[in-house]
Amino acid sequence: MKRARPGRRSGSASAAPSRPAGGSASGRTRKPAAGPESRLSRVRRARRINRELGEVYYYAHPELDFENPFQLLVATVLSAQTTDLRVNLTTPALFAAYPDPAAMAAADPAELEEILRPTGFFRAKARSLLGLSARLRDDYGGQVPGRLEELVKLPGVGRKTAFVVLGNAFGVPGLTVDTHFGRLVRRWRLTEQTDPDRVEAEIADLIPRKEWTDFSHRTIFHGRRICHARRPACGACPIAAVCPSFGEGETDPAKAKKLLKYEMGGRPGQRLKPPPDYPGEPAVPMPPEAAPASDAAAPARDA
Ligand code: SF4
Repeated sequence: MKRARPGRRSGSASAAPSRPAGGSASGRTRKPAAGPESRLSRVRRARRINRELGEVYYYAHPELDFENPFQLLVATVLSAQTTDLRVNLTTPALFAAYPDPAAMAAADPAELEEILRPTGFFRAKARSLLGLSARLRDDYGGQVPGRLEELVKLPGVGRKTAFVVLGNAFGVPGLTVDTHFGRLVRRWRLTEQTDPDRVEAEIADLIPRKEWTDFSHRTIFHGRRICHARRPACGACPIAAVCPSFGEGETDPAKAKKLLKYEMGGRPGQRLKPPPDYPGEPAVPMPPEAAPASDAAAPARDA
């Protein structure tokens, strides 16, 4: 992952945007589009959005705590249909009990399920972890492979999970098309696709390959903090000037500011161990068992 630039912005929760609505990171203004947009115009807009997000979220990073590729792979599998914070609260006990693929592959299924229970869908997730750990142990010498073709053959691992691992553990650029990413690139009218694979292909055509991982982090950060699914905080959005969907959410600056989340709203982030340049506070530890969850219950959306 490209390292952030410490000091680019003040290291506090005041990272919340202070410029007025309609401003942009560069201070330039948006011209209204006339007629169908050319590919060149779309490329330029996409890259400008990426640049301006890069100024705002210079510290963007994976929001899962991990120390090695195996931990990142496991945490990413667990993050399906729950929050990264919930995963971060669960994985310390998980990795203490099962520190490597061989140990996890030999886990008692019932004991593994009990640890995973707070993340929801814990039986299916336990099956995936047992299966992928056994494959890593038997076929890859206990190591996580660094190739997309091999990662997606592991139980419970799709392209989204594979790109998270490739981008953040192996330095291989990848686009992570999750719910936030898809929503935002459609709001920015960079694509009209809803199928994640098609979204990935169209955005890959707009953003330079070396920027794919960082663009994913920046976009997901923006979706979690400002451009929410139900009520985007347009009036407090630092890239409002380049967004064709400005006005889809709250435009009053004072009201919009109250919608900001995590460090943008002056609150803790999702990681218990955030990177040193993170301008907010670490997540507040709490016992995983405090989380209500069952395998049948409707899980929380990824936040
Ligand atoms: S929809 Fe609103 S919050 Fe989202 S990027 Fe556009 S201006 Fe910002």
